[in-house]
Amino acid sequence: MDLLKQIPQLDRFIQNISFEDFKISLLKPLAKEVLEEFRQDILAKKIHTFNENELILKVKKKYEDILKPSLIPLINATGIIIHTNLGRSLISKELIQKVQPLLSSYNNLEYDLEKGKRGQRYSHLKKLFSRLCICEDVLVVNNNAAAVFLILNTFAKDKDVLVSRGELVEIGGSFRIPDIMEQSGAKLKELGTTNKTHLSDYEKAINENTAMLMKVHKSNFCIKGFSSEVDFEDLIPLAKKNNIIDYYDMGSAHIFELPFGLKEPKLLDYMKKNPSLLSFSGDKLFGSIQAGIILGKKDLIAKLKKNQLLRMLRVDKLSLALLEEHARILVLEDLEKIPTLKMLYTPLAKLELRAKTLKSKLETLKILEILGDNSFILKSETPLGGGSNPEEKIPTFVLALKYKNIKTKILEEKLRENGVICRIEKDACLIDFRSIQENEDEKLEEIIKKVLEEVLIND
Ligand SMILES: *Cc1c(COP(=O)(O)O)cnc(C)c1O
Repeated sequence: MDLLKQIPQLDRFIQNISFEDFKISLLKPLAKEVLEEFRQDILAKKIHTFNENELILKVKKKYEDILKPSLIPLINATGIIIHTNLGRSLISKELIQKVQPLLSSYNNLEYDLEKGKRGQRYSHLKKLFSRLCICEDVLVVNNNAAAVFLILNTFAKDKDVLVSRGELVEIGGSFRIPDIMEQSGAKLKELGTTNKTHLSDYEKAINENTAMLMKVHKSNFCIKGFSSEVDFEDLIPLAKKNNIIDYYDMGSAHIFELPFGLKEPKLLDYMKKNPSLLSFSGDKLFGSIQAGIILGKKDLIAKLKKNQLLRMLRVDKLSLALLEEHARILVLEDLEKIPTLKMLYTPLAKLELRAKTLKSKLETLKILEILGDNSFILKSETPLGGGSNPEEKIPTFVLALKYKNIKTKILEEKLRENGVICRIEKDACLIDFRSIQENEDEKLEEIIKKVLEEVLIND
């Protein structure tokens, strides 16, 4: 029982010189917790000796854990450019600098400077987007899932929406088209079969309760063999003829030709056909921030703006500012300034050179012989990610890190602990240059060297 008496008194304990630079308001409750846990451990006879330094270290650890950033930058060496788990598209530093003054000052977010009264939050994007996307109007919400929901709820509540069976998709993170539809109040009418849907299936299904013909991009899978689907451009005239809405959830949209023969649907091909509505994610191939971008007819967008739901899905000034800058870059075709596109368009030869450079730099390490270096450079392929066809891959170069005396799994773990995410293939850690920023090469080299040295010491 003596030990219990030795537990320091809280107010005295936190006066310890070790806590000199700590904020009392955070320190005190943490110290109290640690002392209490300690008391319980004594009562449970888990502790038989006592050392105040141990307690101090415990408190310090708790304190630092709380303040340690949770969201941290990583090097994406997986090769997957649009990696949803790693934050999808990147925004260039230059673009962030451009919008910075807007964030630290008041602005005309919802203020009409000419009239001197309340203005429209969504008006700021109209000029650039209507140029860029040949659309009458644009509306932006929190993400594409929200866009789908808002559109269905506005135009198809208690009404039928016709969708092909082959397009009832589930996207990562359990976004399921049938579930979203149900929650929005729209009634899903499935058409065709899993592998084949014809225009006549839509024609036959249209009746007085039909509100919309919806097409969903088969983002993350493909149907091969005996299959056919109806192109969105054929749904547009059919909807028009029947005075209903045609809507395409494109998932990922892009404006310019894609390299490597990628066959993702191109936004302008559809916009030229004058669709009712179309939506896509801002942070997939479009290469900007998380947002759901809705394009289409003025009167329809006006109705979306009147839906009370929009208030819950609305985007912040930061999003609008970044999107406006992004659209300006796209209008000026300054694609180098869009990291997602820059990585995608990087020629293979450049990736190969970077892989070779890193390899030769690592070869200057003295410990390499002890490690038993079997690393090699490999031409490989990577999916694009972000809801693009997984069968469509783009070429890339990787440095395959492989050492006789290090377990590949351990190496992968250590790299991960140090902020480098890579994949294991052929019993090697693949460092894929397709998704690594050029200005990260040096840091990457440092991390790999550090990790190799540490693994050796700890062995
Ligand atoms: C990615 C995707 C979504 C979801 O978009 P978020 O912006 O992630 O909400 C919806 N539909 C399709 C077809 C997609 O590919």
